Order: sequence, then structure tokens, then C-alpha cells
Amino acid sequence: MTKSAPGVKPTQSGAPAPIVRAAPGQTATPVPTDSAPRPIHLTVAKPVAKAPAQTTAQTPTPDGTPATAPKPKPVPKATPVPGPDGNPLPVSRPKPAIPKPAAPIVNADSSITPPAAKPVSKPVTKPAAPKPLTPKAPPVPTTAPGTAPIAINRNVILLDASHGGGDAGSHLSDQVAEKDVTLALAFKLRSLLTARGFTVVMTRDSDAAQSIPGTPLTLDDRAGIANRARPVACLLLHATGSGEGVHLYSSELDPLPAEPTVNPWLTAQAAWIPASQALVNQLGTALTRTRLPLVQSRASIRPVDSLTCPAVVLELAPESSGNLGSLTDDGYQKRVADAVAASLIFWQNQAQAPVRLVPLPPPPSAAPVPSPAASPAEAQP
Ligand SMILES: [Zn+2]
Repeated sequence: MTKSAPGVKPTQSGAPAPIVRAAPGQTATPVPTDSAPRPIHLTVAKPVAKAPAQTTAQTPTPDGTPATAPKPKPVPKATPVPGPDGNPLPVSRPKPAIPKPAAPIVNADSSITPPAAKPVSKPVTKPAAPKPLTPKAPPVPTTAPGTAPIAINRNVILLDASHGGGDAGSHLSDQVAEKDVTLALAFKLRSLLTARGFTVVMTRDSDAAQSIPGTPLTLDDRAGIANRARPVACLLLHATGSGEGVHLYSSELDPLPAEPTVNPWLTAQAAWIPASQALVNQLGTALTRTRLPLVQSRASIRPVDSLTCPAVVLELAPESSGNLGSLTDDGYQKRVADAVAASLIFWQNQAQAPVRLVPLPPPPSAAPVPSPAASPAEAQP
């Protein structure tokens, strides 16, 4: 059933890689892009870079003590070692106008704030310009992100006549085995449901339940058949000699809000618990109307926990306590089957499948890659 978890691979392919971007004039470093073949060499730009280099040469010590420099070019401060990309040159220009009074120990730290005008250089930093903050339009409301509805076949009912072949189930009497009662009830249901337009899938329609000739149908085989059919309801039929009327069970698993991407086999039903309990209620209402004794409960009777559909274990008990003969009575079986089939007509349009959690698609590559020459291949899961 469950395909293996989708690998992460597909997300990496998205590298947009329009790296043709080579900035005009600057270039400098021949950063080799992934695949860009040619257009790297633009060495023309270099002379620009050299100019600053000379200025620095004049100033011996980078920090303080501009020494005897006669003011012509009080640009000493900024160590012109520019970042890989741009040239910080323009920043250093405006400053020199101010510091007439010599004693230029100002230096270093405050190089960024050029407000000037005030002799007392207090590190008054300007408040960051209030951002325009244009409220972004809310995303288009779709289904919750990372979820997708699960498709179910509303015309399909799965009937599992439990036991069969060498597995007789309970011995309801000396002559009656559970496997025969469940199969008889399944046939009656199939007939009624088919007449109402349903497609009925049965895990077995004869005594021998075999997946491969000679190999009995396992419980997992039955769950697999059910899950592939994606039915609107799965009825797992059993029979018992104790109690009376009809016993309905849904799984004991704790419900999950949604079906995960990878279903652990033994807890696959968890996401369907709400639907299964609703189905129990639907069937219970119909059976109660026919004045049949009813028990509704929860029990993880295999393979119900592995089913990915609204699933109910329907156990047929004697019509009245101790009346074992009723278990094979056509009239009694038909009463039960009629009520169930009529109920499923309504259920057909009421069933609600959980949503499936799906892996989120990779974030849309936001515009061209920003300047910091980050390695292009940083894929984010
Ligand atoms: Zn049984």
C-alpha cells in the first residue's frame, strides 16, 4: 500500500541557475558558476580596483595617527579592502569635510554614520527609517497547506467474510462454523447492495480463501484488497454465539487529524477513526430501527487497524440470547442485511475522508539569487 517515503531528491532539481548575471564592470573574482561556460573574463574592470590600493599605501598605520598628512586627502581611514562585491569607496568621501580640528582619533568604529555637523561626536544613531510596511495580501485560501483530500470510491463497498478455508473461525454449534455464517451474510449483503447500485468487492466469495493457490488469504491480504478498492465502507463480518443482535466495533486506535504521508501498516486506520465511528453510528441507527439488539463498542480486531477506509467490524450474534439456530436463519440474516444496506445508501454521500498530509513543495525560488556569493547549491528541504 504505502509507497516508500518520497525521497528528498526531486526538490533539488529546482536550482534556477540563471547565473548569467555577471555584474557590469565589477566582476573581479572569476567565481565559477555551476555550469556557466564562457562569459567570465571581463578583466577590463580591474583598473578601478587598483586605485584604492594606492591610497592605502600612503597611510602606514591603518588605525590612528594619520601623521603629517597635509589634509589634501584625509581619506585614510577606511581600509579599502572591499568586500568581494562592491567598493565601499563612496562612503569615505563625505567625512573629511568635518574634521578640521585635527586630533583625528575619531576613527574606526563610527565610520558608518555620516551625520556630521555636530562637533561633539556622539554616537547618535539615526532611528531606522520607518518601514512603509505595506500589508501583504493574505495568501489565497485553498486547502490547508500540505494537505490534499483523499479520494474514495463512493460506489464501492468492501465485504470481508472473515475466516474461510482451513480457518473455520468460531464453532457456533456442532454443525455451524463461523466462516459459513459470515459468507452467507456477505452474499445477502452483496445482493442487496448491488441492487442499490453499489459495486461490491469481496475478499472471498467461496469457502476457500486463497491469495495464491494453496496459500490461504492472510489478514494483511484482506486489508490490501480493501485498501486498493478505496471503498466508502469496509464491513468485516464475524459471527458469535454469545450475546444477541448485532455487535459493531470500530478500531481502538487514537484518532489522527489527518492521514500522514507514510502510513504505518498497523495504525493506518487512525486517520479514519472519525469516519469509522460515524459509520458505526449510521449503521447502529438503522439496526435499532429494526428493533435488533445492538452493541456498539471499540475493538482492534485485525486487520481493521490496517484499513484506510471507513471500517466497521460487524459481528452477528443470535437474534435472542442463546438462540444459536438464528445465526443460520435466512430471515434473521436478511433483516440485518436489509438494515445495513439501506443505511449505506445514506452513508454513501455522508462519508468524509480525512485529508492527507503531503510533503510541501520546495519554496518558489525567490527572484535572482541575492548578491552574497553563496554557494549556489544550497538546497533547502
Ligand atoms: Zn471471527
